[in-house]
Amino acid sequence: MAGAAKSSKAEETKRLSHGLRGALTAELAGPESHFAAAEQLLLKFHGTYQGYDRDSATELKQQGLEKQWEFMVRAKIPGGRLTPEQYLALDALAERHGGGNLRITTRQGVQFHGIIKRDLKATIAAINRALLTTFAACGDVVRNVTATPAPIADAVHRRLQADAKMLSEELAPKTNAYHEIWLDGEAVAGEVDEPLYGPSYLPRKFKIGLATPEDNSIDVLTNDLGIIALFEGERLVGYNLALGGGLGMTHNKPKTYPRLATPIAFIEPDGLLAGVKAVIQLQRDHGDRADRKHARLKYLVQENGVDWTRATLEGIFCRTLADPKPMPPFRVIDHTGWHEQGDGRWYFGLAIANGRVKDEGSLRLRTALRTVIQRFRPTPILTPGQGIILGDVDAADRAEIEAVLSQHGVSLPHALKPIARWALACPALPSCGLALNEAERIRVPLIAEIEAVLVRHGLGDEEISVRITGCPNGCARPYAGDIGIVGRTPREYALYLGGDFAGTRLNRLVFERIDLAEIAATLEPLFEAFARDRWPGEGFGDFCHRRSNAELIALVDAARPPAARVA
Ligand code: SF4
Repeated sequence: MAGAAKSSKAEETKRLSHGLRGALTAELAGPESHFAAAEQLLLKFHGTYQGYDRDSATELKQQGLEKQWEFMVRAKIPGGRLTPEQYLALDALAERHGGGNLRITTRQGVQFHGIIKRDLKATIAAINRALLTTFAACGDVVRNVTATPAPIADAVHRRLQADAKMLSEELAPKTNAYHEIWLDGEAVAGEVDEPLYGPSYLPRKFKIGLATPEDNSIDVLTNDLGIIALFEGERLVGYNLALGGGLGMTHNKPKTYPRLATPIAFIEPDGLLAGVKAVIQLQRDHGDRADRKHARLKYLVQENGVDWTRATLEGIFCRTLADPKPMPPFRVIDHTGWHEQGDGRWYFGLAIANGRVKDEGSLRLRTALRTVIQRFRPTPILTPGQGIILGDVDAADRAEIEAVLSQHGVSLPHALKPIARWALACPALPSCGLALNEAERIRVPLIAEIEAVLVRHGLGDEEISVRITGCPNGCARPYAGDIGIVGRTPREYALYLGGDFAGTRLNRLVFERIDLAEIAATLEPLFEAFARDRWPGEGFGDFCHRRSNAELIALVDAARPPAARVA
């Protein structure tokens, strides 16, 4: 728990920022190509990260030239739900400022990469004109609230979407800084009142997700606060609040670790907002403000225990909390392809490699989606698997939509093996300043290699989740999948195994350093053993989970020449 330790520099920056203003207006107007360090932190609250093109950085330095500074801009989209007009506005922005592509994130938002400073204000203003915002898409506040994406026309899915929207609006910071800086709003005199966050906001980012046990496609337990809605038929019984999820860690720093959220309490339907605010207050007042690497809610819960967490929450809430209710086993539903949505209309889910919507060679995905959305006006919903759902489609339009996609070279879901449909990758190089290795740029060839191995062992139709990240920060949820592949050095990856497909168990580190070229070959003996020795209905992650690291390494070593063995 945070004691008398000195607050970090970031805390001072936030506290003195006058409601997240700092010197942003002056720096934005200045001639420099980038912002000073303190303003970089504040920029995140406004939905943008400053970075530089890492591919060209060394060469530019050798020539005595400045780095190529650029910005990532992220739009916050609760539950991933857009209108056709909003999607088309984002598509137009991609053309104007985003280098011709937009990226669907693992938290149902949209990111534009490669924005230069002089286009920053215009980009953010254009997102707002589409009735979306970038405010609080990043920073030490509640970020985009994720929710099960399927547009099924029943009380369950309507309620999840409505709750995601309500929480997103209610938990947004109240400062007027965003409107003043980016939208030329009128300056507000006097002190800024942030009743929920206070002057220093939260110690770190705070993620909230909403799901049901019947469809955990958002990996709800990876959130700081996972809200699990419980229904009897279409009647909402209430919510289990699970606290302390979060995946970021640092290699070789055992004080940092991934963690899945623990169910702590049950809340009645009308108590959701008050319960969520109490959890945020818990983190606001007790989170570690001295060490940002130790500042997430997960460390509070893990190190102080469930009893302390619950008692402190009850103190804030001023009442006794009910125990979490029993939940059925978690499942993850495949939303790709066509599904009847319950009101006579249909939705179509499309997997998108890396969430990258662009035109490249014969694959003209961006044009295809734009054409479909312009012509048929479906409801676009971004998924936590970096894909898109096109909802509210008339049955008569289905064949034509498929035809448009195929004409533009887009692979339809049934043409993809499950391994390709489910794989996630973070952006990593060249745009992420923290990346230790590639992720997005190796996803397609690596997944193709792994798929070939699976097919060789009769496992081509097996549902296995693979998550690839360029560093251990966990943006593509690498520790919550069957297989996690995490950048370790510029050449090597750490390989994590033994998670579960339903997102209820973390995987574990099995191979500390593997060259990219060796990953598929390392997995092959494990797939071979899985195909041979699996229990009925057992998934690959479960198979690895019931074997020790030594057993898994022995399986791989047995297939290698002696000089290449690990053990
Ligand atoms: Fe960057 Fe690491 Fe996040 Fe990937 S996981 S986007 S490399 S911080």
